[in-house]
Order: sequence, then C-alpha cells, then structure tokens
Amino acid sequence: MIVPVHNEAENLHLLLERLHPVLRGCVASYEIVFVDDGSSDATFATIRRLAETDATIRAISFSRNFGKEIAIAAGLDEARGAAAIIMDADLQHPPEMIPSFVALWRQGYKNVYGQRVDRAADTPLRRWLTQQFYLIFDSFGETRLPPGAGDFRLLDRQAIDALRHMGERARFSKGLYAWVGFKSIGVPFEVAARAAGQSKFSYGKLTRFAFDGLTSFSTLPLMVWTFIGTFVSVLALVTAVYFLSRTVLYGVDVPGYASLIVSILFFAGIQLLSLGIIGEYVGRIFAEVKRRPLYIVADRIGAPNPAPEVPHQVPVMNSHV
Ligand code: UDP
Ligand code: MG
Repeated sequence: MIVPVHNEAENLHLLLERLHPVLRGCVASYEIVFVDDGSSDATFATIRRLAETDATIRAISFSRNFGKEIAIAAGLDEARGAAAIIMDADLQHPPEMIPSFVALWRQGYKNVYGQRVDRAADTPLRRWLTQQFYLIFDSFGETRLPPGAGDFRLLDRQAIDALRHMGERARFSKGLYAWVGFKSIGVPFEVAARAAGQSKFSYGKLTRFAFDGLTSFSTLPLMVWTFIGTFVSVLALVTAVYFLSRTVLYGVDVPGYASLIVSILFFAGIQLLSLGIIGEYVGRIFAEVKRRPLYIVADRIGAPNPAPEVPHQVPVMNSHV
C-alpha cells in the first residue's frame, strides 16, 4: 500500500483499522508505506507511534511539502511488493475495494484503476471545472484518460518500474498511468466523504495541476499559434489587396480610426496570449533541465527499499532522439 499523507494525523488510526482486515483477507503479506508530504501536524509522530506495534508500517517523511504527485512517485520508489495499491489517507477511497483490485491483478491485469462513478463528494464548482478540464484534455491531449480514473489503483511491479523511469518534475500521474499502458481495467467505486479534516487542494493548486497536465501531455497549445498566425497573415494580405485597389481606384478617404485601434488591440492581445503559452512551456523546460532531485527525504521509519535504484534520468545514448 502506498499512502501519501499531508496533515492527516486524525485519519491514520481509522485508516489502519479498516485496511488491515481487508488486506489480511486477500494477500499473504503486505506493507503499508506512508509518504509524509511535509505535514505540519502530528502525522509523522503518529505514524511512528503506530509503527511501534505494527510491523507492516514503513514511512518516509519529506523535508517539506512537495505535493501529492511527487509523494506518489516517492511511494513507488519505496514500495517493495510485486504490486502496489495507491490510496488517499482520508478514506475517500474505500479499502473494501481492494480485494476486487487484487483479484483482477491475479487474472493478469497490471493496471487496475478505481473509477469514480459520481463526484458528489466535491463542490459543484469543482465538479464543473473538473469536467471542463477533462473536455479540454480529451481534445488536446495525445494520451487518452479513462473517465473517472484517479490515483486509487493497483499497479503491477512492471508498471511501477516503468513509472519510476519517468523522472519528470511536473507530474500529472493520471496521464503517466495511462501513458505506460499495460493491460488495464477499471473498477467502479463510490467516493466516500472525507473522514476528517478538509481537502488539501485549493482552486489555485488545482489550476497549476491542470496546466501541468495539459502541458506535459500536449503540444497543441503551442502549435495552434502556427495556424492562427497563418490565418491572420492571409487575412491581412487579402485586406491589403482590397485597400490598395480601393485607394488606386477611388482615391484616399481619411476615417479609419476605429478599425485601426480595434485591430491593434486585438492582435496585441493575441500576441501576448501566445507568448504566455510559450512561457508556460519554457518555464517547465527550465524546471526539467535543472535536474533537481524529485524529493528530499528528511526522516524514515523502517528499512529503505533495497531494490536497485532506478535512475530518474534515462541516459541520452539509449534514447531514440
Ligand atoms: N496529499 C499530499 N500532499 C499534498 C496534498 C494532499 O500527500 O500536498 C494527500 C492527502 O493527505 C490525501 C491525498 O493526498 O491522502 C488526497 O488529498 P485530498 O483528500 O486533500 O484531495 P481531494 O480528495 O480533495 O482530491
Ligand atoms: Mg480527499
């Protein structure tokens, strides 16, 4: 089990209480890896206390808050199992779904994802914005996302290792899971209400996340300016010919301030917008080329994963560039 936690101290006890019987019932052995994503409450201390009497618990603690996507990446690095299940700590992902995930994995599926059937647990505004995002992603993105699929899923060792090779900093996990492929299947589930505390995702954070998702899975926002540019240039040429011949045939007339100012403002707007979009990509390229580590571990409970380290950057000589 991989559980990213950020200020979830109140949920841990309840989570383990519901998780253990389910896991004991369906697998021979398991471990629960908590990734404490820079919590400021008693989360890590609570995990440490629980681990004293519970040998299945391992945990790492980040030096600061790196975000859920990075916490998942760290969890995949830490997990030692033949498969791993990623779930939220707030019990919005029902542990009772786990046996069906495991059963499908035993049938040969390597990527078993929970598919939320409704979003009643979210606010109406968030639901609407999420819907808009997926519409845009579907028409822009070069990777297809199965509807309703999120982070609650089981990944086979093969998929885990594939994901560990993806060292990108701007991580949009939902896209990465779909990108690695493997035999996949969805299992519908109802999202429960949060057990305690409140959502850690503000609208600002979700907006950044949406941009990360779009820019890391599509270059269409960049290419679209080539078409707009071509269209505008052709339009300008046609207008130029029209005005030139009119001036030659009928002489000069003075008015034209309104059309002039409107077109100047319009094209200035278009240019700034396209520059902004290029900036979004350049900013992300900058973040990637710095090649900083994905995360920094400040503390841990239990032994580290002894498995050979998967390099976060694939050497250039092996790539097909
Ligand atoms: N989380 C995290 N880092 C963050 C924000 C959230 O590890 O910066 C964890 C959080 O503790 C929870 C999971 O990610 O286990 C989902 O977060 P939350 O319930 O706040 O998101 P929502 O359900 O609103 O999408
Ligand atoms: Mg939640």
